[in-house]
Amino acid sequence: MLKKLLITFITLGLIITIIFIHYKNKDITPAIKYQLTLKIDNDNLVKEFFNNVKVEEDKNRAINNWQFDLNNLEELKEKINIEINNYNINYLNNFNNTYLEALLVNNSNKEKIINIFNNKEFIKNINNEINKRKKYLNYLNDLLEDINYLLNNKKDYYFNDNYYICKDNTMLNYLNELKEKYNLNILTKLGNTNNQKIPILLYHGVLDNTWGAATLFVKPSEFAKQMNYLKENDYTPIFVSEIDYAYAFSKPIIITFDDAYIDVYNNAFPILQKNNFKANIFVITGSIGNNLYMNEEMIKTVDASNLIEIGSHTISHYKLAEKDAETIEKELKESKEVLEKILNKEVNTIAYPSGSFNSTVIEIAKKYYSYGLSTLIGKEQSNNINYYTLKRHYIYREYSLNDFIKIL
Ligand SMILES: [Zn+2]
Repeated sequence: MLKKLLITFITLGLIITIIFIHYKNKDITPAIKYQLTLKIDNDNLVKEFFNNVKVEEDKNRAINNWQFDLNNLEELKEKINIEINNYNINYLNNFNNTYLEALLVNNSNKEKIINIFNNKEFIKNINNEINKRKKYLNYLNDLLEDINYLLNNKKDYYFNDNYYICKDNTMLNYLNELKEKYNLNILTKLGNTNNQKIPILLYHGVLDNTWGAATLFVKPSEFAKQMNYLKENDYTPIFVSEIDYAYAFSKPIIITFDDAYIDVYNNAFPILQKNNFKANIFVITGSIGNNLYMNEEMIKTVDASNLIEIGSHTISHYKLAEKDAETIEKELKESKEVLEKILNKEVNTIAYPSGSFNSTVIEIAKKYYSYGLSTLIGKEQSNNINYYTLKRHYIYREYSLNDFIKIL
């Protein structure tokens, strides 16, 4: 009887049955709606449909293909977004191939199709497939949520010495949960939660024979002794751009050189390399390649060592507080552009020449940089960082090692 009814419908070529199945779980994000429309024109197609409606698992889409890589979150995020989009499209394409365009939304119609076609296998297949996909897409969305959390809280964890060092217990607990959840093979620990002092040392020349302001030229032998002291006493030099990660080190310190003199390249850089110490060098772009200053090649070389972070020291070394806004803007903007062109990477630190700044300078610095270094004397504290007026300590030629130690 049912069969006869069906054949009649098909022969007339009039049936277009739309089936809606409403799934119990409504916690699916809008990106995960399953839409299938079933259209039947003749009995051959019906047979063909049932023969073909085997939903095959795409081998490339196995869940365990997704490596949760903490070092590559941006890339992973992009890949997962693409996956979520493609997956839905591919799903519909599967069914187009079998002449099936069904819209499964409503339970009463689901019953109807069972009654009409008396083929539970079909429904089972679709249910299985939908559940499988729902699980997978839920997994991907969950993953995306974790990735976004980590990206939005980048400053709260730092990878060093094989450990993910956390700023506080919230991040530590979170990372430990991720370890379990994704079976991650990582080590975690809590960083230094005290308010740490972060000394920033200010050097200029490192040279035996002085020219200009002699007091600003530290002897290479003295510089070597100072670095050696830092090494032996477990100080960890970090870049200016890493100042937010001071909690990851017991004794963080920042070593800076203003003006980018050629003797810093010749005498200080090898000592830094020997100790595997990071430092920041601030370049006067208008002086690049002049007699006493580092040239482009040298700037590229120190940058490529990954031990030096290059920053701007403006184009002309004017005392910025004495200049008008237009000049300040040009000095800050164009020097950044020159350095970024040489290095082919972002430059986001600036040291104000002669430590000269005012509110206009800071306002403009905020447009182009994330960190501004002053010559105000003192130490930054990890819970109160003056990002655009970072304090420093001059290191003078006359300093004994004891004078140096007192500063730290
Ligand atoms: Zn300078």
